[in-house]
Amino acid sequence: MTYVICYTLSMRKYFIYCRKSSEDEDRQIRSIDAQLSELNIIAEQNGMTIVEIFTESKSAKEAGRERFNEMLRRIERGDANAILSWKLDRLARNFDDGGKIIGMLQRGVIQEIRTFEKSYLPSDNVLTIAVELGMANQYVRDLSVYIQNGIREKIRRGIFCGKAPLGYYNEPRLRTIEPHPQHFKKMKRILEHFAGGQCSLTAIRNKMANVGLLGTRSRKPLPLSSIDNLLRNPFYYGVFVHKGELHQGTHVPMITKKTFDEIQQALVAVGRPRHNRDDKGFTFLHFATCDCCGYSITAERHTKKSGRRYHYYRCTRKSKQRCEERTFIPEEKFAQEVKRNVELVALPDEWKERFLARVETWETESAERNQSQIERLKSDLAVIKVKIDRINNGFADGSLDVQEFKELKNPLVPQKVALEHQIIALERGKINRLEPLRNWILQANQAGKWVSDESWLEMKSFLTDAGSNRRLRAQTLTVSFKKPFDLLAETNESARSAPDDFSQTSKWWSPGGSNP
Ligand SMILES: [Zn+2]
Repeated sequence: MTYVICYTLSMRKYFIYCRKSSEDEDRQIRSIDAQLSELNIIAEQNGMTIVEIFTESKSAKEAGRERFNEMLRRIERGDANAILSWKLDRLARNFDDGGKIIGMLQRGVIQEIRTFEKSYLPSDNVLTIAVELGMANQYVRDLSVYIQNGIREKIRRGIFCGKAPLGYYNEPRLRTIEPHPQHFKKMKRILEHFAGGQCSLTAIRNKMANVGLLGTRSRKPLPLSSIDNLLRNPFYYGVFVHKGELHQGTHVPMITKKTFDEIQQALVAVGRPRHNRDDKGFTFLHFATCDCCGYSITAERHTKKSGRRYHYYRCTRKSKQRCEERTFIPEEKFAQEVKRNVELVALPDEWKERFLARVETWETESAERNQSQIERLKSDLAVIKVKIDRINNGFADGSLDVQEFKELKNPLVPQKVALEHQIIALERGKINRLEPLRNWILQANQAGKWVSDESWLEMKSFLTDAGSNRRLRAQTLTVSFKKPFDLLAETNESARSAPDDFSQTSKWWSPGGSNP
């Protein structure tokens, strides 16, 4: 194998990196030799200086490839400052390695990643690169477990997964949610009454108790906090929230969206339910832990001389005088911190459109691949069917006896069944492989809407969902975002902290495939 060493005016020195692992199912991935010869042509045509060639036959799904790590070390040392590789996904398919590559590109330690199709520069959109590194696929795989258990499928069909709200019941056979024969109409009247705005929560509780709308287990009047939750549940007008995302339900709506909006207005007027054992009326209770000692953050109420009440949050361990963290945070400040964190991972409309467009491209590509595979299987199936027909005819016209007939036909039947199953699986798989990614995009975009609407409860449950840890220290809330939200948080943060905000923001959206 020969390779080209050229001396040009360009300051870029390239390492070639080729990888092929036994796990690569995709037939389009060429052998290392084929990758190398193609890359040599690119190098020759562009007068690129190649310093060394690194090859590896390991999967990039896990971190810890020796040659890859050695290459990065040597780039850090300054032996080269650019990489030439067949495709971006040859370099990394896991978050650690992908993050390293992106970080080095951002710092300018890597000045260019050149692939067969594109050139990636430090000025390119980080998120696009992350997506093309195949990290999105990783996310899709992680979610596949979730899809398998059928919840996703159920939700796609517009069926809420969970206990039916008061006025409905869970139909055990169809596993749907149906109007309760006795309670539906009663509940409807209660909701419409409250929407009129002339009613306190306590009055509603009494009305409900009078018509027999009680706690399902306790058979007692519901606590005010539960009534408050009921009144805020969008399920009643036909949609439902799952994992922070709003879905159109197929259940019978109890009220119109208009009535629901009126109820929300009326709720603002009556305020949050007053102090009781079940719900102390603190928005951010059971939400964060102390960053200092790990104990949970509790809330307390202070009443000023004027009679106005204030909510404060603090570390539970503080009272025992064993935690350093002594600060109290007022609810308003806490709310701003929640908002700031949601903003970190909110996907602007413009990004959403771009991402959805990209997902669509992938879907088309994968559908085409899928289709050609289906066609191949179908032609295989046709061949087997013809064989079976011939054997059947042979038996019918007496040219085969029973023994011969069985011997010829029996092995073909399981083959036929296997092919049919494969075809069905592929037909099914057509639709929802990229669905989780699409939902993630929509969810991150929805988060931005909650910020502008100041929907605190939605933001709270969104952060609980998108972050594994919510820690409070010195009036600052820090969320450890799960993937791929962490990626979004990093991108947004660096865009924000940049001195020149405008040029930075537009930078993220420079075309991903800009050429030098
Ligand atoms: Zn503490």
